[in-house]
Amino acid sequence: MPSARIATTPESLIRPEILALNAYHVPPAVGMVKLDAMENPYLLPQSLRDEIARLVADAAINRYPDAAAHQLKAAIAQATQLPSGTEVLLGNGSDEIIQLLALAVAKPGAVLLSVEPSFVMYRMIAAFTGMRYVGVPLTQDFSLDLRATLDAISRERPALVFLAYPNNPTGNLFDANAVRQIIEAAPGLVVVDEAYYAFASDSFIPHLASCDNLLVMRTFSKLGMAGLRLGFLAGSSAWLGQLEKLRLPYNVGVLPQLVAAKLLEHHDVLLKQAESIRQERVKLLAALSAIAGVHAYPSEANFILFRAAKAAQVFEGLKQRGVLIKNLNGGHAALTDCLRVTVGTAEESAKFIAALQDTINQLA
Ligand code: PMP
Repeated sequence: MPSARIATTPESLIRPEILALNAYHVPPAVGMVKLDAMENPYLLPQSLRDEIARLVADAAINRYPDAAAHQLKAAIAQATQLPSGTEVLLGNGSDEIIQLLALAVAKPGAVLLSVEPSFVMYRMIAAFTGMRYVGVPLTQDFSLDLRATLDAISRERPALVFLAYPNNPTGNLFDANAVRQIIEAAPGLVVVDEAYYAFASDSFIPHLASCDNLLVMRTFSKLGMAGLRLGFLAGSSAWLGQLEKLRLPYNVGVLPQLVAAKLLEHHDVLLKQAESIRQERVKLLAALSAIAGVHAYPSEANFILFRAAKAAQVFEGLKQRGVLIKNLNGGHAALTDCLRVTVGTAEESAKFIAALQDTINQLA
C-alpha cells in the first residue's frame, strides 16, 4: 500500500546549526607535493618498519583492542615524562578528544571559548554538541589579547576554554604568563592544545600539578603518526575518570595501539625527525622572507603562515605547479591574503619556493 507519510527531508530533521555548517574540507592530493596538513615528511628507518611489519602480522585483529590500552598509555606516560599522578585519556586523534570534552560539559547554554584565528574544529565541535561558541580576537600580531580574553571569561563564564599552544594557523606560542592568568581566571576547564609540541620551545605539562582546572592535550599526528589517529589528554584522575565514561570503549584499534607503542619505544627516532623539521623551518622562513611581496610569520610549529597579495591566485598557481598548501584567505578577517605551508623536506621546500616565486612573478 502506498504510504501517505510526508517525506522526511534532511532539512526538516537535522538541527539548524548542523545544516549551517560546511563540512571540513580535505582536498585531493594524489601526485602533489603535499604541504597542506602538517604531516611529518620522513619515512621510518627500514629496521623499524620491518619490526612493525612483524608486529602487525602477529596482531590479534580478530579480537577487540585492549579497551584500557595499558601498554600504550604506559609508553605515552614515559615518553612524555608526565608528572606522577597525571593520567592519560586516549582519543582517535585529538579531534575526538575535543568532541568528548564538549559532550561532557554541554549543558544547555554552556559556552566553549577560544581565540581567533585558531583551530577551526573548536568552533565546529561547539556546534556539533550544541554549545555556544565565543571567539575572542587575537591582536594584530596574533598575540593573546589578555584584557579582552579575561573580560570575555568573566562575561561568558565558559565551561571550556581551548588554547592551541603553539597556535594553528598562526604558528606562534602565546605568552605563557598570559595563558597562566587565563587558567587562573577561568571558572571551567582550560585545555591547552599542544598538537605541535614536538616543534615548540615550551609546554604546559609542568603546570598540571599546580592548576586543577588545566588539561593538556597532545596528538602524535604531527610527529609521524597522522595515519594512526592517536591523541591524548593528560590531567588529574578527578577529571579523566569522568571523561572516560564518554569515551567509546574501543576508540583506539589494535593496530594503532601496537604500532604507536612500538614507535614510542623509539621516541628518539621521531624526535630526531622533529629536529630536522625545526632546522628546515629556519631555512624555509628565510627563503620565504626573501621573496618580494611575501610576509612570513615566525613559527614554533611545523608550518609557516605567510601573507601574499592575491593569495587565492597564488594558491591556485602553486596547485597548477604541483604543490598543495592551505589557503586561509576568506576564512577569517584577520587571515586575508594568508596561506599556510607545512615544513617538509629540503627538497619539498625547494620545489615550493621555486613554484611560489614563479607564480608571484607571473601574477605581477
Ligand atoms: N589541535 C590542533 C591545534 C590542530 O592543528 C590539529 C590538527 N590540525 C588537531 C588538534 C587535531 O589533530 P588530530 O585529530 O590529528 O590529533
